[in-house]
Amino acid sequence: MTIDIAKKALKSKFGYDRFRPMQEAIIQATFDKKDVLVLMPTGGGKSMCYQIPAICMGNTTVVISPLISLMRDQVESLKSNGISAAYMNSSQSSSEQYEVETNFSDGKYQLIYVSPEKMMQPSFIAMLRRVTIDLFAIDEAHCISSWGHDFRPEYQQLSIIKSTFPNIPVMALTATADKLTRKDIVHNLNLDDPEIFIASFDRPNIELMVRPGQKRIEQIVEFIKNRKDKAGIIYCLSRKSTEDIANKLKQFKIKAAFYHAMLSAEEKNKVQDEFLNDNIQVICATIAFGMGIDKSNVRWVIHYNLPKNLESYYQEIGRSGRDGTKAEALLFYSFQDVRIIREMLTDGEKSNEEVQLAKLEQMQHYAEATNCRRAILLNYFSEQTDHTNCGNCDVCKHPPKYFDGTVIVQKALSAIARTNQTVGLDMLIGILRGSARHDILEKGYDKIKTYGAGRDLSQAAWQNYLQQMIHIGLIEIAYDKNYALEMTEASKKILFDGQKCKLSHFEPQNLKETKPKIVAVTKSTILGDELTELLRQLRKELAQSKGIPPYIVFTDATLEDLAKKKPLTDHDLENVHGFGERKVQLYGAPILELIRSKVIENSNEGGKVRGATYVQTLDLLKKGYDVSDIAAERNLSETTIYAHIAYWIQQKEPIDYYKFISKGELERIREAFQSSDNPNEMKPLFERLNGEISYGKLRLGLILI
Ligand code: ADP
Ligand code: ZN
Repeated sequence: MTIDIAKKALKSKFGYDRFRPMQEAIIQATFDKKDVLVLMPTGGGKSMCYQIPAICMGNTTVVISPLISLMRDQVESLKSNGISAAYMNSSQSSSEQYEVETNFSDGKYQLIYVSPEKMMQPSFIAMLRRVTIDLFAIDEAHCISSWGHDFRPEYQQLSIIKSTFPNIPVMALTATADKLTRKDIVHNLNLDDPEIFIASFDRPNIELMVRPGQKRIEQIVEFIKNRKDKAGIIYCLSRKSTEDIANKLKQFKIKAAFYHAMLSAEEKNKVQDEFLNDNIQVICATIAFGMGIDKSNVRWVIHYNLPKNLESYYQEIGRSGRDGTKAEALLFYSFQDVRIIREMLTDGEKSNEEVQLAKLEQMQHYAEATNCRRAILLNYFSEQTDHTNCGNCDVCKHPPKYFDGTVIVQKALSAIARTNQTVGLDMLIGILRGSARHDILEKGYDKIKTYGAGRDLSQAAWQNYLQQMIHIGLIEIAYDKNYALEMTEASKKILFDGQKCKLSHFEPQNLKETKPKIVAVTKSTILGDELTELLRQLRKELAQSKGIPPYIVFTDATLEDLAKKKPLTDHDLENVHGFGERKVQLYGAPILELIRSKVIENSNEGGKVRGATYVQTLDLLKKGYDVSDIAAERNLSETTIYAHIAYWIQQKEPIDYYKFISKGELERIREAFQSSDNPNEMKPLFERLNGEISYGKLRLGLILI
């Protein structure tokens, strides 16, 4: 089996032009019957690594997957690409199971998805022995490791696969990359000298942003209003806040819902389904949400609160942009959150408190970063990177501008000194800005010299500058003294010895969507924007009629490509990202109809889309006009109109061409063609027919024969 066959399948079945890094090597190893372990981030394209071999190798591939919802999603998606697939799990009725088992025994499936429990059943193993199996793929393979965060005991028995079928290759896949888990997978599955593939964990399409956690709701509303119809998830620290935030967003007419562990299974499913089907735009959720969903068009993730560690953070932002197109991750950072999490972590007896606190510090370090955030993330996951400037995080996009911040720092330090290092961040800002809060007045802080000395700066600016001071070691937080801010040796030098100090300039940034710059606004770009919206709507209608989620009909990446390329024929459609043969058949007609009608409108307004002239002629043909009418109407020659008809015939557009050329005329052209010495030249043919058949018709006739 060669990789060329795999490439053809990638194009014809999935409509993709090339493999992503590593997919090709993984597929080749499987063709060579090797065991492999695949480590790739979420959205990296793991499924393709076994789906392509499954299609090419001709028999059946068994996929072991822990989550029923993911199985269902994958099977739907495969079927929509014309690949025969099914799943077996406990959610099915016995008659459904029977049907699937029968088809499976007859070797009718290219892929069959089963739960690990099913895999262990002796009756299923017996069935496997009777069918030709090409490959076992074990998805979410980290579930086998007790080190992992997602240990499932039933996974540990999967070594039975290798002991029962030693000659069938096994592919284990996971998005969890640490070394211990990796070792466990290889060992517990009994893999035979496996080739290990570790892809980069970078997700370059996700833009990373951190904002101060003030007026979060206002910031979020602005953010969402700027991202019309784009789905996203807001992760919150508590159940109650998921409900509060969802309710607040609803007041701004945003379609939002909440999701947390205390909802009934029924409620959870309902929220999840509405989100998958693009009926709800925003989900406010605790971390419980997201595990079992594969929705590829989540366009953004907001962390309302600071996550406990970078592992969770990376996993959660990874739920956006799985289709590989632009996605955004926005984190709100406030010291208050750090405080709450610290209290949660140190509350009661926790065996690994130290480790957890260290992880929290790394999370803070990320949030306060003044260098590329992507570099920090990748370094944290021990990945060598060349990134010093990724170009897609807020730090890289707006590099810090430093200025002499000595006066600001002195004001803050002076206030800290005059309150005997007993106040926390919030109160310190209140004092500096001259707030009349009752606790400030009560303590008499309005009498100290620095009260109101920092009125010229906003709350957010102070927050930012104080954070910077913590970051560069000018202030320390006394966790054991109610989070009071204390001076350090370094800060004494600034306050008492006149040493200078730099700060990076605080610039409040708005949350407008950063669209790629368009050089000139042309009719074509306007049409593209309009088409995107109409196609999104059409996608939803098609999804509803088929009872599947919109992103399975086609992904956002495909949506963008459609609006950009504006395909007018089936052939054009095949060149759109994500359109395999099956999808052209299934959805081609309504999509082309929509694009054609918009392209005609656009032409009438003076726009210029490539191929529009053919579509205009086609439109008139379909309305019953004849060639001379169309020529007159469009102010073109009849020869040109005949050429357009010939074009549509070549595109296999179903039109009745005998309306434009009679059988008799066609016969005469054929005779002339066959008896001519140089049949490829038009003029001799034209003369041979005594000039009775026009050049246009002649060309059309030649195409037909
Ligand atoms: P994972 O299982 O690693 O989370 P998926 O297999 O779901 O990732 O792939 C994520 C998305 O990328 C899917 O929409 C998939 O169709 C797409 N994809 C996978 N491989 C390619 C490729 N070679 N070219 C284009 N898109 C791809
Ligand atoms: Zn960066």
